[in-house]
Amino acid sequence: MKLSFHGAAHEVTGSCHLIECQGRKILVDCGMFQGERDLHEDNATPFGFAPAEIDAVLLTHAHLDHCGRLPLLTKRGFRGEIIATSATRDLARLVMLDSAHLHEEEAKRQHRHGQRGGHHEALYDTMDALDAVDRFGRNATYKKPIELFPGIVATFFDAGHILGSASIRLALSEGAHRRTVLFSGDIGPTDRPLLNEPAPPDDADIVVMETTYGDRDHRSLDASVAEFLAAIRDADRRGGNVIIPTFALERAQELLWVLREGMAAGNIRKTLQVFLDSPMAISATRLFERHPEALRPEIAAMIHDGRDPFRLPELHFTREAHESMALNQVRSGAVIMAGSGMCTGGRVRHHLRHNLAHTDCSVIFVGYAAAGTLARIIVDGARQVKLFGEEVPVRAKIHTINGFSAHAGASDLKRWHARTGTPERTFLVHGEEKGMTAFARSLAPARVEMPRLHQHYEI
Ligand code: ZN
Repeated sequence: MKLSFHGAAHEVTGSCHLIECQGRKILVDCGMFQGERDLHEDNATPFGFAPAEIDAVLLTHAHLDHCGRLPLLTKRGFRGEIIATSATRDLARLVMLDSAHLHEEEAKRQHRHGQRGGHHEALYDTMDALDAVDRFGRNATYKKPIELFPGIVATFFDAGHILGSASIRLALSEGAHRRTVLFSGDIGPTDRPLLNEPAPPDDADIVVMETTYGDRDHRSLDASVAEFLAAIRDADRRGGNVIIPTFALERAQELLWVLREGMAAGNIRKTLQVFLDSPMAISATRLFERHPEALRPEIAAMIHDGRDPFRLPELHFTREAHESMALNQVRSGAVIMAGSGMCTGGRVRHHLRHNLAHTDCSVIFVGYAAAGTLARIIVDGARQVKLFGEEVPVRAKIHTINGFSAHAGASDLKRWHARTGTPERTFLVHGEEKGMTAFARSLAPARVEMPRLHQHYEI
């Protein structure tokens, strides 16, 4: 049996791990490399294995850095089955189609500008994404084993990270040799407003786990909610707009829920004009209502009773581009949630361009900001930033609230690892160098490996 790593090795994006057993090849995730720099080359480079030889893909969750190269895998010859929870399948369809559209637009733009050295062919297009959607086969239900092939059984467990997210256990046998390998996927913290807590199995021989926040804990959710509502109140008093760079999956819905609760408790004004300015977040919100089975029982009960957990008195869904552009004329009183969360693209960059220079405006960061992204540059205190070719001074009030993270902090990661039994070996992935090495030290004396890209291990 072999385990190899083809992404998220000493970095946080591009998750892609390969198990080889009995001559079968099973991939866990096939994610996109993401960041501020042009990663087209990294994504377009060979996978490190032959796509046509992959028998099945197990998908932990629908974030782009976990499912974003599935259309490319299909384009390059993959014909096996993709297995995921039904919520992940619905969300992944949305994410892959959106990504294909972005790649098509980018290729057109490069072609129009005749950029020298530019890549004029889209990494993949809508047809490739639809082909990938067609490869989805059986739906996984938490804790219910699925036999992939005789002697290879996959079981999904709630990872509490985003809607439908899972850790996946593979029970493998090859002759008399047996191994249980647990892939964490991305692990959520224990105090999420909409999702259940992570619930890993306790019998792993080998653990492959994420370490995004391996070196620090977040503030508690309660403290973060209080801080968030205070920031909204403060901005409301000062009169300017509030820009919230928002991840479309989970974070946007969490914030709608938090705003709803804040209004119900009288912490913020009920008549606040809130704009969800992200077609993807708007669609994802609808999918949440379609998957109560993946939500906390009390939220599921609301949906069953026909009460919309994401409704606010003055909530506006701005799906169309012209509606979004109209927001650029609004000088005060708008709370605008827009993507991308790390400000690497999307509508939020336009809103930053129109609001960053105003002292009465606020920008509230509520998510992870990878090194090198515009979000991280602003969070780190830049006095001015470059947007659409112009220098924009940063005069707006900047808030960074980290307790909303969809990722477990170091203490929760350690607890999660302790719950998996006493694994012989633990492979750390999906982390920046500093967090990962700190986490490796904290697991001592456990046997820990930090694999490099394309590195193979016998297991
Ligand atoms: Zn994720």
